[in-house]
Amino acid sequence: MPELPEVETAVRELRPALVGKTLQGAWANVPRQLGDMTVRTLARRLRRNRVLAVTRRGKYIVVELERGLLIVHLRMTGRLFVAATERSPHEHLRAGFLLDDGKETLYFKDVRTLGTIRFYPKMEDAAELSKLGWEPLEETISSKVLREVLSSRMQAIKPVLLDQSVWAGVGNIYASEVCWVAGIDPRTSAKRLTQTQCERLCEAVPEVLRQALKRGGSTLRDFMSPDGKYGSYQKEFRVYDREDEPCLRCDGVIQKIVQAQRSTYFCPKCQKKR
Ligand SMILES: [Zn+2]
Repeated sequence: MPELPEVETAVRELRPALVGKTLQGAWANVPRQLGDMTVRTLARRLRRNRVLAVTRRGKYIVVELERGLLIVHLRMTGRLFVAATERSPHEHLRAGFLLDDGKETLYFKDVRTLGTIRFYPKMEDAAELSKLGWEPLEETISSKVLREVLSSRMQAIKPVLLDQSVWAGVGNIYASEVCWVAGIDPRTSAKRLTQTQCERLCEAVPEVLRQALKRGGSTLRDFMSPDGKYGSYQKEFRVYDREDEPCLRCDGVIQKIVQAQRSTYFCPKCQKKR
């Protein structure tokens, strides 16, 4: 699933292709991806609606319009890109937003159709955004504040890192990477983290995401940016997808375990509980 670095990469590429353009309606062939809104209503709301900005909040792509906003979550296999309008859109294209004179379209491709597209008249109407926590690349969180937030969390720290109401945008790959960089055993109960461990987490979260962003994110299966580029951070994984391989920091061996139904990779030797 695209996480913060992949979504931010997509936003940075979509921005110059969309800002200033006027949407001229929409089509969609998987109605449930639009939630409660019908394709007709969405098309009407988007007609003659100019794009003011393309931003990101957590893993959501936010297209700010003159009237309202379009919010897209890519989930597992979604991808947004601008291309010449096709007469008969090929398979896996689930929605299209005609631009300006109709020669170009903002396409939404999604093999597994788990992505979501929403339109809201105002930012305040987007309940999914108001539940999100800190933006790791924009907000500096003190270890004291983090420790306070974690003090009521019984769960292990790795699944807590996936909770979008703590840090928004961290997903399964980067949560494992963050725990390794911070030297923390991912099974440690979040409320038991020491002040020093909290300090290391506050540094590791933005550090790991920034490094991944520099590489255009990670490509597993088929993540591809709007410009059709693959990310390369997967070549630099310290623990993710490295089961039974040597640790890059000590003579330990990377292990894979399952936490809250998701794979976690870590080094049992140098990632400590305390
Ligand atoms: Zn190690």
